[in-house]
Amino acid sequence: MKNLTRTSLGALIATALLFTATAPEGAAVLTSSGTVWDSHGSVQYDDPYADFRNVRYSNAGLLSESEELKLGTQLHREVTKKFNLTDTGLARVDRLGQRCARSGLRPNLTYKFHVIQSREINGFSLPGGHIYITTALIRMANDNELGGVICHEVGHVVARHSLKTLKKSKEYDDIANSLGDLTGVVGNVARDLGVALGKMGGALMLTVHSRDEEREADFLGVRSMPGAGLDPEGMITMFQKLLRMEEQNSDLLGSLFSDHPDAQERIDNTRYEIARMKRR
Ligand SMILES: [Zn+2]
Repeated sequence: MKNLTRTSLGALIATALLFTATAPEGAAVLTSSGTVWDSHGSVQYDDPYADFRNVRYSNAGLLSESEELKLGTQLHREVTKKFNLTDTGLARVDRLGQRCARSGLRPNLTYKFHVIQSREINGFSLPGGHIYITTALIRMANDNELGGVICHEVGHVVARHSLKTLKKSKEYDDIANSLGDLTGVVGNVARDLGVALGKMGGALMLTVHSRDEEREADFLGVRSMPGAGLDPEGMITMFQKLLRMEEQNSDLLGSLFSDHPDAQERIDNTRYEIARMKRR
């Protein structure tokens, strides 16, 4: 969101008005290509999530799930050394998080939710179902908004984005070999793993995602919200709060949001998906 400008806020308002003007038609037609036409056949929205609708998610071609869990344990230890974890807000994050987890496309994994004491508004996830949310983010969000962020993070875990990033790193073979030999978190093998992870740049390297991965996590997140008992509009109002935050004090926005696609686009895409879910 670093490149967000007042111009795009203007565009946001224009888009909101456009939606208000076209919504009452209620006669949108969804074609097989995922394109939506209005009742006059003149306005068209391309499906922003067309690439993700029929994806089947698994660990095939990546670390196995048991290796992923071992890697997650190791990376979580690294996170606990780097950040202050706290119980403040943890019960709320866990309650919402478990609902997102059950409602997502990887419901059998044991997810572990954590709260980081920080003024920075941020959230991220690691392999093996570890999800981190900062106290500053918890404070600014109602349950539907916080749930939206958490369901998005669960989406990264479902799509194994960090494992895909790891697979592309030069250290992948060393890390995979160490994990294959690893039975505990102590000893030479664990040290070898630590060295290989260190060379790669550590846990936070695996929290950096491409824009397409962010779109996919947004898609998986918003789709899982109704099943989690959450109003998916919360994802939109969260983006709107972040937009305002960007204008007021962008230093408090963590890398999570600066790396993501433009907030304007995310709001548009989320609106598209909510409308689509309502038609089903
Ligand atoms: Zn993300």
